[in-house]
Amino acid sequence: MIDRTAPTFVTGHRGMVGSALVRRLGAAGFTRILAATRHELDLRDQAAVDRWFDVHQPAYVIHAAGTVGGIHANASRPADFLYDNLLIHATVLHAACRCRVDKLLYLGSSCIYPRDCPQPIREQYLLTGPLEKTNEAYAIAKIAGLKSCEAYRRQYGCNFISAMPTNLYGPNDNFDLTSSHVLPALMRKFHDAAADGAAEVAVWGTGAPRREFLHVDDLADACLFLMDHSDQEETINVGAGEDIAIADLARLIRDVVCPAAHIVFDPSMPDGTPRKLLDVSRLHALGWRHRIPLREGIESAYQWYRSQLPAAVT
Ligand code: GDP
Repeated sequence: MIDRTAPTFVTGHRGMVGSALVRRLGAAGFTRILAATRHELDLRDQAAVDRWFDVHQPAYVIHAAGTVGGIHANASRPADFLYDNLLIHATVLHAACRCRVDKLLYLGSSCIYPRDCPQPIREQYLLTGPLEKTNEAYAIAKIAGLKSCEAYRRQYGCNFISAMPTNLYGPNDNFDLTSSHVLPALMRKFHDAAADGAAEVAVWGTGAPRREFLHVDDLADACLFLMDHSDQEETINVGAGEDIAIADLARLIRDVVCPAAHIVFDPSMPDGTPRKLLDVSRLHALGWRHRIPLREGIESAYQWYRSQLPAAVT
């Protein structure tokens, strides 16, 4: 187990993943959780990141920061996604090596795997085929980060490990309809439909693609588990091991949020990868499994969403 009293830096602590990590580490008794806002530390600035590491001397780093977004944001802002993420990963890993941190966990994404690879996706399928075009830029940056972990480990002996989470959802998700992922987008669309008395909710694409969803609290728990129990170079998929068609996800969210709404599909929007389901046997073999069933997770995420709205519209 890693030392609960050692300084532990969570990058991206205001985001959905980073904030879940801070909650989980706090609950596990970590007494010195380090965090820096974008304003305090621009993670794209190597000199600033080096200075920050020199001053704060983290023993552990969980690297959850990144420029992220859903299918539309990825497809329309590929340069930002590539530039920001390449730099953010490079600076943090370099500083962590320079400062000799005891351990770093790098978080990637299931979109690093080839678009048409066999399902469920095993870790070994990385770099065996072309990527999905709608998020290629983001995936390239994430792969560069993953390969950097391996390179620092080999050249400098750094204990850098990595995990590849599936699609995530939960508190502090992005609910902006142009840049969010599907689950928060649909939650908001059905909520707005209920509030406005609208009969129809538009679901992008055909509804046929299949995706796997994991509650971010489960991911945070898996991250702590890996910090405590894994020192292996090979990356580890983190998922629920089950997927669902987007059309069925839409029905599930409708049932929770606005049962009267009618779903219409908008095939002018992209479907993206036909299926993305991670093989989680490596993680299961280590002894970790997710706990939060999808419907329960959607219900609690929706409660959180409502709690954030001004009183008049909840
Ligand atoms: P992806 O997993 O990288 O493709 O990212 P998303 O979570 O953005 O999209 C997953 C799937 O949900 C795609 O097939 C989208 O077309 C579909 N989808 C349906 N409705 C929406 C929506 O309102 N917003 C988003 N982002 N995706 C949607």
